[in-house]
Amino acid sequence: KEELNIIQGALELRTKTVEDVLTPLSDCYMLSSDAVLDFCTMSDVMQSGFTRIPVYENDRSNIVDILFVKDLAFVDPDDCTPLKTITQFYKHPMHCVFSDTKLDVMLEEFKRGKSHLAVVQRVNSEGEGDPFYEVMGIVTLEDVIEEIIKSE
Ligand code: ATP
Ligand code: ATP
Repeated sequence: KEELNIIQGALELRTKTVEDVLTPLSDCYMLSSDAVLDFCTMSDVMQSGFTRIPVYENDRSNIVDILFVKDLAFVDPDDCTPLKTITQFYKHPMHCVFSDTKLDVMLEEFKRGKSHLAVVQRVNSEGEGDPFYEVMGIVTLEDVIEEIIKSE
């Protein structure tokens, strides 16, 4: 029974897309690029429990960096270091994917690449103006694995 669910889940990787499993932008724990790494911000980050934290500029849909919690190892909250100093030092590459990416392809990308988090975009061609890229949320390796081992 359990095994069947896992096989089922694995087979569904070919049909389901990252859009089906992503964490919507509104639920993402993120930091503003002009944040200051004081005690308040750093304890908030620790309490969030997340390992990878998208950093946005001006608008939450404009993700410009990813902060890894381990980047904070040498940061002293008393120094009130600007977040930008840290993100510019580490410069982790940001991995973007389209929302219609199939989960089997996503899994391969996660296995191949170094990062286990990707920013999910779609092309928004609704409305009057030109089509534009719109960030929908984030997807991690965990979201894909979850899809395989979930028991319904
Ligand atoms: P790790 O398990 O590698 O320490 P983590 O616990 O921070 O990382 P994941 O295990 O990759 O995160 O993901 C767990 C769930 O949390 C997934 O559904 C993922 O989409 C979501 N998630 C990851 N990072 C964030 C974030 N910054 N804000 C909101 N949700 C997140
Ligand atoms: P994350 O990817 O969530 O930042 P990580 O890179 O520290 O975490 P994992 O991705 O969980 O570690 O594991 C990668 C590989 O490194 C696995 O094979 C794991 O067993 C191994 N590993 C993890 N921690 C250690 C450690 N302290 N010493 C040696 N090997 C480790």
